[in-house]
Amino acid sequence: MSKKSMIIIGAGLAGLSTGCYAQMNGYEIKIFEHHSVAGGVAAVWKRGDYLIDGGIHFLICHKPGTPIYDVYSEIGAVGSYEIEDMNSYLRFVDENGSTIVEFTTDLEKLERDLIAIAPDDADDIRKLIKEVDWMKDSPLLTDLGMSISSPELRGRFDGVKDMWNMRSFMKYFTGRFSKSAAGYSEGLKTPILRTVIKNAFSPDIAFWFVIMILATVAGGHLGLFKKGCHEFVQSIVDKYESLGGQIKYSSTVEKVIVEDNIAVGVVLADGTEHRADVVVSAADGRSTIFDLLEGKYVDNKTQKRYDTWKPFDPILIASFGVNREFEKGPPFIALTLKKPLEYAGRSISFLPLRILNYGDAFAPEGKSVIQVMLETDWEYWYDLRQNHDDYKTVKKQFAEEIVKRLEDFYPGITSQIEVTDVATPYTSWRYTLNDKGSPMGWLLTRKTLTELVPRTLPGLENFYMAGHWVLPGGGVPGSIYTGRNVVQILCKRDGKEFKTKL
Ligand SMILES: Cc1cc2nc3c(=O)[nH]c(=O)nc-3n(C[C@H](O)[C@H](O)[C@H](O)COP(=O)(O)OP(=O)(O)OC[C@H]3O[C@@H](n4cnc5c(N)ncnc54)[C@H](O)[C@@H]3O)c2cc1C
Repeated sequence: MSKKSMIIIGAGLAGLSTGCYAQMNGYEIKIFEHHSVAGGVAAVWKRGDYLIDGGIHFLICHKPGTPIYDVYSEIGAVGSYEIEDMNSYLRFVDENGSTIVEFTTDLEKLERDLIAIAPDDADDIRKLIKEVDWMKDSPLLTDLGMSISSPELRGRFDGVKDMWNMRSFMKYFTGRFSKSAAGYSEGLKTPILRTVIKNAFSPDIAFWFVIMILATVAGGHLGLFKKGCHEFVQSIVDKYESLGGQIKYSSTVEKVIVEDNIAVGVVLADGTEHRADVVVSAADGRSTIFDLLEGKYVDNKTQKRYDTWKPFDPILIASFGVNREFEKGPPFIALTLKKPLEYAGRSISFLPLRILNYGDAFAPEGKSVIQVMLETDWEYWYDLRQNHDDYKTVKKQFAEEIVKRLEDFYPGITSQIEVTDVATPYTSWRYTLNDKGSPMGWLLTRKTLTELVPRTLPGLENFYMAGHWVLPGGGVPGSIYTGRNVVQILCKRDGKEFKTKL
């Protein structure tokens, strides 16, 4: 019997994962990728002698012994890249360069340090640390509840089973922990603690997600790519190609061909038509549904999602290749600014700095790559980009202002900068086509957490979706799981056993 064919749109982690599992389960796959390399938002680029890692910051479940690690293993994403434990996540530093607090694996110390800066909030701090301590050993961290997240795979009693499995997490659906980090922090008395909590991840994210991040650090579940995140991507590309899959790069899909409400192929930007038995979009959700499919397969729920859900804010990444070394420590440092930084209509009092000195591939010996990453607004950068000269000027001014601020903490840094690179949300959109340059799809909120997004569209057959637009909160494991889900659904529909090996 001849194999069924499948076209996948996008060679990000979700597209590659779909491709691996589909090859293992008897499909013949071709991926069409817009960019000239695989990985999507998991991207690195070279600037002179420096390697800029503009993608995955840390890998969740990088060590054997968890369901997520087992899934990485299935698609070849273990063993072939260098990774080290992340024992410390983030250090907050005051205007004078002294540490305010550092989030490490040592929860007792963290509790003491937080109480030292905010004695009036001691009760809330103890409750928070108790929660982190409890969560660090919970199964939620090692499967993220994702094995149950595709509606098409669910049976009649799964809702009840979910409620039972999730009973200890119900407290995150209501009450203080269900608020955003900014909302939760408003209930704290001490201003510095309020700012630290609000900025520990992102002010808009559900606060229990911040608890989860602290718990993954405390539980030793995070790893740092010592040579850059592209090695992780490449390991999956290698697996996919070894299974017989193909990738066509610089091939943007402009239309999904539909006949009698069945997806039968795609049309590329160069006008060529390609046919297949199944089409999977592992690309941006909005453009897939409203452009490639012309908005013809949208029910009220889908429409409401795209009208009202908030994506993660896009980010601006200013990277610098610096002729200097930095003290080894956490990869992230939040620097308290003497005067707020006004940029693109926003004002910030902390400069979030990432120091990539946990591996030797980012910079030549004695030198370093550092990055400042700021949440920003798509519209500002999109409008600015309409005039290329203005866009370039603003990027340059922005980088200069950042360096000026860094000079307060690292005297002499201005003259040590050898390379400057500013990537805006527009840059991210240009290379990945993610809606408004979003780095991780939908923001995780109380609302998005409780709604399961289907991997199919109403009324359209032989068409599936994978990636961070069908799993709120996105992320590496999430995107990989959604690709696995798509092939699980196909196997179920075909009455076949789902295989995780060729
Ligand atoms: C700076 C940054 C840091 C991050 N840090 C972490 C982290 O520490 N831990 C974590 O778990 N997650 C992290 N994430 C999120 C995580 O990397 C993403 O959620 C995940 O990689 C998304 O994969 P994806 O395949 O769903 O989407 P994408 O990576 O967006 O892939 C989609 C692909 O589809 C292609 N495409 C789009 N449209 C078309 C078209 N019409 N035709 C052909 N191809 C098309 C794109 O070019 C792209 O390659 C981070 C993201 C960013 C940006």
